[in-house]
Amino acid sequence: MTKTLLIKNARVLVTMDDERREIADGAVYIRDNVIEQVGRSADLPQQADEIIDAANHVVMPGLVNTHHHMYQSLTRVIPAAQNGELFNWLTNLYPIWANLTPEMVHVSTLAAMSELILSGCTTSSDHLYIYPNGCKLDDSIEAAGKIGMRFYAARGSMSVGQSKGGLPPDRVVEEEGAILKDTQRLIETYNDAGRHAMQRIVVAPCSPFSVSRDLMKEAATMARSFGVSLHTHLAENANDIAYSREKFNMTPAEYAEDCGWVGHDVWHAHCVQLDDDGIYMFGRTGTGIAHCPCSNMRLASGIAPIRKMIDSGVPVGLGVDGCASNDSGHMMGEVRQAMLLQRVGFGPDAMTARQALEMATLGGAKVLNRDDIGALKPGMSADIVMFKLDTIGFAGALHDPVAALVFCTPPNVSYSIINGKVVVRDGALCTIDLPVVIERHNALAHQLALAAR
Ligand SMILES: [Zn+2]
Repeated sequence: MTKTLLIKNARVLVTMDDERREIADGAVYIRDNVIEQVGRSADLPQQADEIIDAANHVVMPGLVNTHHHMYQSLTRVIPAAQNGELFNWLTNLYPIWANLTPEMVHVSTLAAMSELILSGCTTSSDHLYIYPNGCKLDDSIEAAGKIGMRFYAARGSMSVGQSKGGLPPDRVVEEEGAILKDTQRLIETYNDAGRHAMQRIVVAPCSPFSVSRDLMKEAATMARSFGVSLHTHLAENANDIAYSREKFNMTPAEYAEDCGWVGHDVWHAHCVQLDDDGIYMFGRTGTGIAHCPCSNMRLASGIAPIRKMIDSGVPVGLGVDGCASNDSGHMMGEVRQAMLLQRVGFGPDAMTARQALEMATLGGAKVLNRDDIGALKPGMSADIVMFKLDTIGFAGALHDPVAALVFCTPPNVSYSIINGKVVVRDGALCTIDLPVVIERHNALAHQLALAAR
């Protein structure tokens, strides 16, 4: 038995289709997990198993978050890590993260996903690169299944500890053989290569300053043998560049190319300090970038030249980054910051509201190498979010409700449909008991902070 869902009467339906149509009095007709029709309410079927009235709402494709570390929701605003740059910030946090437990990974993933979903995100990646005390990526994957989010579980790793010249303490790094073995197990157990897939595995050594060149290369070989994507951090700030020059005698972009880390199946977080040669090479090879404006501002890493990257053909998506360096996981808030920060760096016409929304939808889909999410059109996955317009935050802005989503106070969704399932109804998550998750999350965060003292 198939199930149909009709969303109708949208004040504006933002399609992100090839013509970037915005349809007044728009509607979407969904069968099971796939969009079947998009158009004006009057032109679509009038009946369905479930009908959602979207009067006074903007309806748009769910946002795609391309970079996160969900466990970090437990370590927001840690006093010792509030005011440092990347390397200082990391060295203050590694000892705290060394006490993570499997329950903490599971609960923090639920918390981070709740915040993302409520703020308009329907697909997220999560880069988990620290596995102490029996933690496994399976703990996050299980959480994603419970809450109903489309998920890219990135099997991160660190293998070069301080004794070998890396940044992390030795006790949080793993053996390279064990990393590759576990990565293969995860791909074989969980990766769904099909269209409308709800879970994919990504091969994701943490960064050039925490893994070896061998691991970077072997990771690329493994990912390609299974047809999965690759993800890491690259060219994040000036110290990151200095490390690359000193250790490898290469720029980060040259190092990535040397290790086989370029192509449509690769995306790098940050790239704030990517040089022009790197930008052109990424554009030529279709290598993607996860832009994380809040984190870049928080750690004073700089302003990523996103306008130039997009103009050079680099696929760019948006990421909130981990909640230890944001410390918000609000996806529409990140869209707003992306627009504002490009203007600070490159002038008032460097990014429009609609371009920022496009980066967070179509851009993210492209970075994740997908053509079934990021737009509302027939044949796409049914990932749809609705924002209510008659709120104080939008008062006086309704002559352009779409731009208002980005310029005004970042809104939460009133509805979110992921893979055809209603996950948020009337502003509340339907799949988990959020107050219970928040209470447990706070208790675990307290426990983690205390353990490090
Ligand atoms: Zn990161």
